Amino acid sequence: MDIVVQKYGGSSVKDLEKIKEVAKRIKERKQTGVKLVVVVSAMGNTTDKLLSMAYGLSDNPRPRELDVLMSTGEQVSIALLSIALNDIGCKARSFTGQQIGLMTEGFHTKSKISDIDASVIYEELDKDNVVIVAGFQGINNNNEITTLGRGGSDTTAVALAAKLGALCEIYTDVDGIYTIDPGLYPAARKLEYISYEEMMEMASLGAGVMHPRSIEIGHNYKVPIYVALNTGDRPGTFIRESDEIMEKTVITGLAVDNNDAMVTVNDFPYTVQSVAQLFKGLAEKHINVDMISQTTPVGDRISVSFTIPKNDLPAALESVKQLQEKAGPFTIETDTDIAKLSVVGMGMKTQPGVAARMFSVLAENDVKIKIITTSEIRISCTIDPKDQAKAVSALAKEFDL
Ligand code: ASP
Ligand code: MG
Repeated sequence: MDIVVQKYGGSSVKDLEKIKEVAKRIKERKQTGVKLVVVVSAMGNTTDKLLSMAYGLSDNPRPRELDVLMSTGEQVSIALLSIALNDIGCKARSFTGQQIGLMTEGFHTKSKISDIDASVIYEELDKDNVVIVAGFQGINNNNEITTLGRGGSDTTAVALAAKLGALCEIYTDVDGIYTIDPGLYPAARKLEYISYEEMMEMASLGAGVMHPRSIEIGHNYKVPIYVALNTGDRPGTFIRESDEIMEKTVITGLAVDNNDAMVTVNDFPYTVQSVAQLFKGLAEKHINVDMISQTTPVGDRISVSFTIPKNDLPAALESVKQLQEKAGPFTIETDTDIAKLSVVGMGMKTQPGVAARMFSVLAENDVKIKIITTSEIRISCTIDPKDQAKAVSALAKEFDL
């Protein structure tokens, strides 16, 4: 049996009119003879509203309670969508994460899916129902409601598609994946396809279209993913395994991230243990460090800079200050005014000289680089945000984006 998993994001179900439109599309699709599992997000900016209520009561709401709270958003939209579908004569039933045995592990508000019990879904599909599943939520071994991190409904959808051996269609308010966020660079091109590896880099680099974890699961289980506009009237982008044609393109995309902060420790003691301790402290607070650079020692002192998500800055500083007490005097500088530009492309694996081209273009445009990192398929650097626009357009021209 041909199963398709569709996911509709918050903007696609933001009011009753939109829900009716989605219901109509689902009904039409079902009539083509496929079995449908539909994952939905909370309506519009419901999750933000729920969070702001929590933070209106406390500066430090317990993550467990945030999960109980946030998961209600998706429960509303699955029920409404199911009501709309049944009303137009399309049999549907809604399910929470718990009801389909979507098991998670890890921490509240950033849990990871560990398993899904597909039996409930298969039973429902056998009864010819459209199965509507609440995105973003699950349940852990302690029977606690959990959520998958903001934007996590994508991950629910891709994980379900992996489990069911299905195609995964992600419907959203953008009509596909672009070489550069068109909001930043209107001349950007829409990609017909992009590899999992490239999309994973782009997603984790702040190209906000999809939840990074969803692409990781897609890659691991080779789930074909199609990202398109929720009206379905324009061709979208396929995320799939790379092939020779993709590998000929040196640079597929450019991601811009303004959500990072940079921390620099100066006069930091240079011992075998010190740098390890610095990053161990951050890891213990579950802070994801992205870029790191270290200077060569002067005497027994070094400087280390690293970037982290801006909202982890207070926790990071707390951790670094604790080390200051133990490891002796060093100074800490923070910079929240940085832009991270990353060029991403599978072609980099085989074609040398990309870094040289990138840095020459930036130099020609008088853009100063603060810190650099590379992986096999990406080069990132942070710059002053005031140079962002000219850097983006110069790189777009250089790499034909
Ligand atoms: N409703 C959740 C959020 O806003 C999950 C999602 O939309 O994917 O983050
Ligand atoms: Mg999203």
